[in-house]
Amino acid sequence: MTALINLLDLDPAQLVAYCGELGEKPFRAKQLQRWIHQFGADDFDAMTDLAKSLRDKLKGRATIAAPAIISDHTSADGTRKWLVDVGAGNAVETVYIPEDNRGTLCISTQAGCAVNCRFCSTGKQGFNRNLSVAEIIGQLWMAEFELRRTHGIEPGPKGERQITNVVMMGMGEPLLNFEPTVTALKLMLDDNAYGLSRRRVTLSTSGVVPMIDKLSQECPVALAVSLHASNDGLRDSLVPLNKKHPLADLMAACRRYLEFAPRDFITFEYCMLDGVNDTDQHARELIALVKTGPQPVSCKFNLIPFNPFPESGLLRSKNPRIKEFAQILADAGIVTTVRKTRGDDIDAACGQLAGDVQDRTRVAQRMEKMAEYQKKFGPDFGRIVEVGS
Ligand code: SF4
Repeated sequence: MTALINLLDLDPAQLVAYCGELGEKPFRAKQLQRWIHQFGADDFDAMTDLAKSLRDKLKGRATIAAPAIISDHTSADGTRKWLVDVGAGNAVETVYIPEDNRGTLCISTQAGCAVNCRFCSTGKQGFNRNLSVAEIIGQLWMAEFELRRTHGIEPGPKGERQITNVVMMGMGEPLLNFEPTVTALKLMLDDNAYGLSRRRVTLSTSGVVPMIDKLSQECPVALAVSLHASNDGLRDSLVPLNKKHPLADLMAACRRYLEFAPRDFITFEYCMLDGVNDTDQHARELIALVKTGPQPVSCKFNLIPFNPFPESGLLRSKNPRIKEFAQILADAGIVTTVRKTRGDDIDAACGQLAGDVQDRTRVAQRMEKMAEYQKKFGPDFGRIVEVGS
């Protein structure tokens, strides 16, 4: 028996090609895509405007399968966090943050991460594997329709969309899993799928310079860069990828990206580490970094109070220090925000998600599930999850 093809793996053009293979016209692919991504359907029999013969064909050949949910919990402030199973003992996090006029979903693109930033708990796990398109877009698919079910909102374009913004800031370096990431991005933007504007989809990178250029050509969404240091010596020690793509190259790539970016600025994320990167001198170096060169890099800074974890040996900068640091940047005319801590760290740089989940509800159930997975996959399973529980 041949394996079923997971339709969540296909971008719009691939779905048209797949329907062609089944002897179907391109408009069938659009219908199918709407059923999958706008109605959240995973049952071909529910797709009532498709001919029965096509539904039967699909049933024998295809499936619509997002990663299974291992745990699901909601913080007091409404932040909802899922841990999803991506097979072979790997799990990734997906986090939803509701705000007054938007709902942001933070998704992961790899299980683990090879970049190994010093301040990042994901990096400490090492790299497990790249996620497939179905595993990346499946996080959005799962979250949108889980939220609708929870809030009693009908599926389909008439129901109020729950997720209005997506940030690729979960586990992994998206640009080191380029093709599946871009395919998932294209689905997010497609009018027959999620129809998000490019301004509302942000990809966060630790600075894979050649891939920043490639992204600008293939799918220029809003860009965030995990900067975290103001000079090469410091960044080499915090973000090892800097040795390969130093700051001058990274700034040049940012300038080039701005010509294609849907927003007229790059967001620089900067994790505030006590005594490491948070002095006045560091702030002044940052100003010089973005303001000098052939032309200034149009940017905003997002200062992130670090989430300490024991293996890092690093501490969070004190609040007054963060404020003073922000003021130096702001005085130089740079828009600077300090990320507020919510139930989880949604605006954090990539990898910061495995932080301090405050919500202690359903701990027993989650721990039970975790014990089951650890038995199945070994004692390391779940290291990324039960922080703070
Ligand atoms: S901060 Fe991002 S790029 Fe760095 S190790 Fe963590 S997940 Fe990877």
